Amino acid sequence: MWQPHFEMMPRGELERLQLARVRETVQRIAANNPAYFEKLGSPRAEALASLDALQELPLLTKADLRAAYPFGLACAPRHEFARMQMSSGTTGKPVLCPYTRADIAQWAECVARCFAAAGVTRADVIQITPSFGLPNGGFGFHYGAEALGAFYIPIGPGRTLLQLQLMQDLGATALVAIATYPLRLMEAAREENFDFRATKLRVGIFGSEMWSDELRARIEREMGIETFDILGMTETGGVGMGIDCAAHQGNHVWEDHYLVEIMDPKRDERVPDGAEGELVVTTLTRRALPLIRFRTGDMTRIISRAPCECGRTHLRLARFKGRADDMIIFKGVNFYPTQIEQLLLRHDGVGNDYHITLAYDAHGNETLELVVEQKNFLSESERARIQRELLDLVGLSVTPTFVAAGTLARPAGKAVRVVDQRKA
Ligand code: ZN
Repeated sequence: MWQPHFEMMPRGELERLQLARVRETVQRIAANNPAYFEKLGSPRAEALASLDALQELPLLTKADLRAAYPFGLACAPRHEFARMQMSSGTTGKPVLCPYTRADIAQWAECVARCFAAAGVTRADVIQITPSFGLPNGGFGFHYGAEALGAFYIPIGPGRTLLQLQLMQDLGATALVAIATYPLRLMEAAREENFDFRATKLRVGIFGSEMWSDELRARIEREMGIETFDILGMTETGGVGMGIDCAAHQGNHVWEDHYLVEIMDPKRDERVPDGAEGELVVTTLTRRALPLIRFRTGDMTRIISRAPCECGRTHLRLARFKGRADDMIIFKGVNFYPTQIEQLLLRHDGVGNDYHITLAYDAHGNETLELVVEQKNFLSESERARIQRELLDLVGLSVTPTFVAAGTLARPAGKAVRVVDQRKA
């Protein structure tokens, strides 16, 4: 069972614990993986006199993890491996994350804490919709629900009508999903005249994809639930690195398990609290795959290190704006797909799905096609307003194509919002 007092630890004590655990992690790497230790510059643990001294160590990239396929950065002997998860990128080798039994216990504790922060208790019925397979979501929530002691429905993804039926018949109170999956449930519910408000569902825990505040508001309104934004990725040991609490003043990171830095991605320097940059994570308690200064690619900022209204002392991050590598540069204009999503979803007539395609025309000029599903028919003036906002707010001169709801493809798994054919 997890230890809630760690979540309330005064900051000084928390930072001393972090420093001790950074040193332990470096010692673990030194003792188990000489090549990895050398890559860090062979730091003496005692030379890490403060958390600031961590900045002397090099940054670890996703490419480093891919190059280490399958277990080149592992720091536990193979006979201690208990399981693994895998993240498949669109290019190159996948990243494998091995777990020892202790890592599974750490994972369970982190996810159980997330459930607790979202107000989910052992009295709840949790419907787990991410995949039980190589992606980490399904099993992460499974271990967390086990640690919490709640009843859970391990349904996995897809089978949308069965999802609605079990939600209703088994009285699910908490739904966990990748962030765009509620859209599929909402769509099926409309077709079936299924009313979420007539179910017992009250909490949604969603993550693994960018989802704007506007999309969040739509899900909350239509499902009649309170939603929570959960953090975590395969590389760091899976879902559950942190979550927002009932105060919704940013996402807590479990700082006794993870040390976060925010870096200027161009200069590789820390930025001050409040400034935006790339999230860099050092794991403090992972054994099979400890990470020192892993560049996540996620763009965010530290909202506060002060204690939260909820009583937790662990720092809070802003909701992710996008991944550094999701940023689109089109004719010299930089923007994130979430900015387009926010703008579109402010219009009631716009549906929940949109698609951006970037390409070159026959003359080698960049083209951007934006296809938007409409929920209700949009008038000419409303379409013109959206076009004007795209120009005013994002700097994008584009004429969106509006299509009927249900026109765009619904891939299984994560939503595909952007296709950049320029990179082909
Ligand atoms: Zn809080």
